[in-house]
Amino acid sequence: MLSVKYLTKNFDGLVAVKELSFDIREGEILAIIGPNGAGKSTVFNLMTGTLAPTSGKVFIHEENITGLKPYQIVKKGVARTFQTTSLFDQLRVIDNMLIAYKWRTRLGFWNTLFHTPAWKSQHDQAARNALETLDFLGLADKALAFIPTLSQEEQKRLAIGIALVCKPKLLLLDEPTGGLIQEETERIALFIKKVRDQGTTVCIIEHKMQMIMGMADRIVVLNYGQKIAEGTPDEIKTNQAVIEAYLGG
Ligand code: ADP
Ligand code: MG
Repeated sequence: MLSVKYLTKNFDGLVAVKELSFDIREGEILAIIGPNGAGKSTVFNLMTGTLAPTSGKVFIHEENITGLKPYQIVKKGVARTFQTTSLFDQLRVIDNMLIAYKWRTRLGFWNTLFHTPAWKSQHDQAARNALETLDFLGLADKALAFIPTLSQEEQKRLAIGIALVCKPKLLLLDEPTGGLIQEETERIALFIKKVRDQGTTVCIIEHKMQMIMGMADRIVVLNYGQKIAEGTPDEIKTNQAVIEAYLGG
């Protein structure tokens, strides 16, 4: 579904990602794990057009999407969450969803200003998707609530939901359970599996090993911007390079 080929990103002398290649297969949950600073979030930024690679390419179904803008990549069916949640406290849940949708799909300044027919039909579609998604999130009764009244877990769930409003074929999650306790993490993990079972391919960045082992079909392990291992959870668990990266620091 998506392929990364020889991707490299330098930041002023620091090599954050180095000649990285991997594939995301349709229907799977692929996890990207690795110590802090390994380059995981940078990989997402490169895949979604937030950053341009120093070299290398990104393909969606064989189509080269390197250099496209984030909203163009959203239109190709890829949606993401960010490591830190970016919800607007002053807005209600439903408005957070609609604003994120419009921003991500670039519904367009003029269309929004003049409420053109294109705007109207897209706005209606977005509102329908948002309500449907809230139902799926188990947050239907929170549509009109303000963000600070939601629990941390509900906010994390909503951040995933906001990406789902775009109806992506591929969902990229950057540490979606950061800051949550074990029990909350398990519920989010179940929810992510439900998203996949509904037909959305998932790629998840995580450092909670236990959660990933019970959830991912395959795992890519990064260390210092390079892939040090790739395989099923069972293969990764016993991989010597992985054990050293995690335990040897
Ligand atoms: P991870 O998500 O695995 O913790 P990151 O991808 O955030 O790692 O960062 C990888 C490395 O690149 C880190 O050393 C980080 O400091 C550096 N880095 C990330 N983004 C930038 C940036 N925009 N400018 C400079 N350095 C960056
Ligand atoms: Mg990160």
